[in-house]
Amino acid sequence: MSTQLRKPYVTPYAEESLDLPLAFEWAAEGPRLTYRDALPQERMFKVLWARCGTARAGKILWHLVHTLRQRRCMLRGLCRVCGKSATDPDTGRISWIMPAALAGDFRSPWPTAHPPTCKAHVGEALTACPYLRREVPVVCTVGDYSPVGVLANLYGEDDGGRVVETGHQIPVGLDEPHLLNRALATQLIVRVTDLQPAVQD
Ligand SMILES: [Zn+2]
Repeated sequence: MSTQLRKPYVTPYAEESLDLPLAFEWAAEGPRLTYRDALPQERMFKVLWARCGTARAGKILWHLVHTLRQRRCMLRGLCRVCGKSATDPDTGRISWIMPAALAGDFRSPWPTAHPPTCKAHVGEALTACPYLRREVPVVCTVGDYSPVGVLANLYGEDDGGRVVETGHQIPVGLDEPHLLNRALATQLIVRVTDLQPAVQD
């Protein structure tokens, strides 16, 4: 890994890992995952979100994604590398790298957990982000998108009442309340629409 590369906005640091005091509580709809000291803002889209620090200090964890910065990128259309807007001010379209398997059919809406990448950082993202390197990427632009799900770890209780993980990095739809209630969301999944191949400058 070259030391010349910027540390991508969505990549977490070791000192941002926090303890997760998970517990189940009784809500109107039945048992629901929470933190023993949960704050109201730790629930969004009716699901509990993984708690993480924001210090950007310590060893960089290249293979992981920072939950809150990934979600912020998705909600605001921000670049995964620099954390600034990925919308082209001239066209109003959002610059986005898609796996080739998805980008092959530009008419269909596609779900993705990969945040946008601004035009200036496309090259750097392709070099630095292991998620993007793993798949054959295509540089696209997106007209619109909306949240449809989360990538989550699922939890239950064992015979002793301990909270245990029962599923790891499972896609859960925002319309699946029975799963959302026992999910710890780690990334927001959006569905992109009006996908087009990027115009080469
Ligand atoms: Zn950028």
